[in-house]
Amino acid sequence: MDQLPAFMNVRGANALVAGGTDAASRKVELLLRAGATVTVYAAQLCPLLADMAKTRVIEHRARHPEADEVAAAALVFAADPEAAVNREVARWARASRVPVCVLGDPEASSFVVPVVIDRSPMVIAISSGGASPVLTRLLRMRLEALIPAGFGRLAAFAAQFRDRARKRIADYGQRRKFWEEVLSGAIAEKVFSGQEASARAALEAALEAAQSAQQARGEVYLVGAGPGNPDLMTFRALRLMQQADVVLHDNLVGDGILELVHADAERIYVGKERGHHALPQEEINTLMVRLALAGKRVLRLKGGDPFMFGRGGEEIETLVEYGIPFEVVPGITSAAGAACYAGIPLTHRDYAQSCTFVTGHKRDFTSDLDWPGLVRPNQTVVIYMGLARLEEIARELIAHGRASQTPAAVVEQATTARQRVLTGTLATLPALATASGIRSPALIIIGEVVTLHGKLNWFNEARVKDVIASPQSVSGKAGIRG
Ligand code: SAH
Repeated sequence: MDQLPAFMNVRGANALVAGGTDAASRKVELLLRAGATVTVYAAQLCPLLADMAKTRVIEHRARHPEADEVAAAALVFAADPEAAVNREVARWARASRVPVCVLGDPEASSFVVPVVIDRSPMVIAISSGGASPVLTRLLRMRLEALIPAGFGRLAAFAAQFRDRARKRIADYGQRRKFWEEVLSGAIAEKVFSGQEASARAALEAALEAAQSAQQARGEVYLVGAGPGNPDLMTFRALRLMQQADVVLHDNLVGDGILELVHADAERIYVGKERGHHALPQEEINTLMVRLALAGKRVLRLKGGDPFMFGRGGEEIETLVEYGIPFEVVPGITSAAGAACYAGIPLTHRDYAQSCTFVTGHKRDFTSDLDWPGLVRPNQTVVIYMGLARLEEIARELIAHGRASQTPAAVVEQATTARQRVLTGTLATLPALATASGIRSPALIIIGEVVTLHGKLNWFNEARVKDVIASPQSVSGKAGIRG
């Protein structure tokens, strides 16, 4: 982030605007809406500003500003048609540490004005830091469509009850939960549809009820975060990430996803780091219990799906023992993610009528894998945690009768911008993976369906980078490479 986002209180402050252009008039309107007193310095005024000057909504001086006038202002906009004037005004302002915005010149400015979605008192500001004003506008269009016009009313409505809620519900976490329920539920709907009196009565009742249910009650959400690409999470996961007081996460959950967790939530890393051992499973279980008993809403965020090789079952067994309420949210397991993003359908009428998921993890694998079962024809085998033993796996499969020419693939960091797909055969893949330096997390896919990758591969990094581009631009020339 190159700039600090902030909202400035300019009520009653003196704002100086150099220039009487149309562009200047738009900033003047913003300043007036925010309650500033505005003086415009310009030989000529555009019709709108001329009108404002005539009705004395703004002050007007028909000349350039002087250095001491700039220094005395609370903030300055430089929008003069003459670049030299703007440069000088900016220099004076900076010398006196007066915030200055030179329109169209972020370099010379100490602040820029974001694109604004006004649902006062709720205001959303968007900036790309000058990188792409068009993208900023596109995003604004989307948000404008998404945010009900009544949102401002809802914020104003909530503000009237803020102090009372604070007095009645002392615990911050409890209070946040209370407001989340009010602002996303039936009461909010009433405000949107203009039934304020009825909304008010419902909120009064909810406050009463909240007061009598003060004792905080913890719970645990066991949530699948999907294979790594934040776009592939569920709405439910996102909502719980916004509600949790504390989040336990591991190395399969990337930064892009953690950013979506509520900023106030405590984050506890319980995964494996290079050179360090993972928190033993029992300790994770006890930690969850301890936090929940202390009244916290605990989010256990897991890569992929919590019930696919994720020990989710073990974790909630402990919760059941302690009678702690919990919820399990499915996620897209990495096999499904990798299959779709590598263009390898796990089943296909011509090649595979079944698919088997197994773990290559040392502890589970040596004794447990059903090799005769895995070499049966017309099936796809997906191996989780198998990278380190790829050579051994290929050798065993061949020894048990699967053809050494069977197509096989490794998908590294599936669904993310760093995804890599290697294809070969049972005979060639191990050496290929070593030579390419494939690292965990990676999945192994074995079976005839792997041949489809050549034809169905659609994903590449350009796609991921296009996160908020419109569908048109994704399918346009620039969107697709290779
Ligand atoms: N619960 C998870 C699996 C946890 S086991 C799920 O449903 O996906 C960890 C293994 O999952 C890794 O060793 C790797 O084999 C696989 N894995 C997880 N994320 C992956 C990704 N983005 N790309 C490839 N493999 C991944």
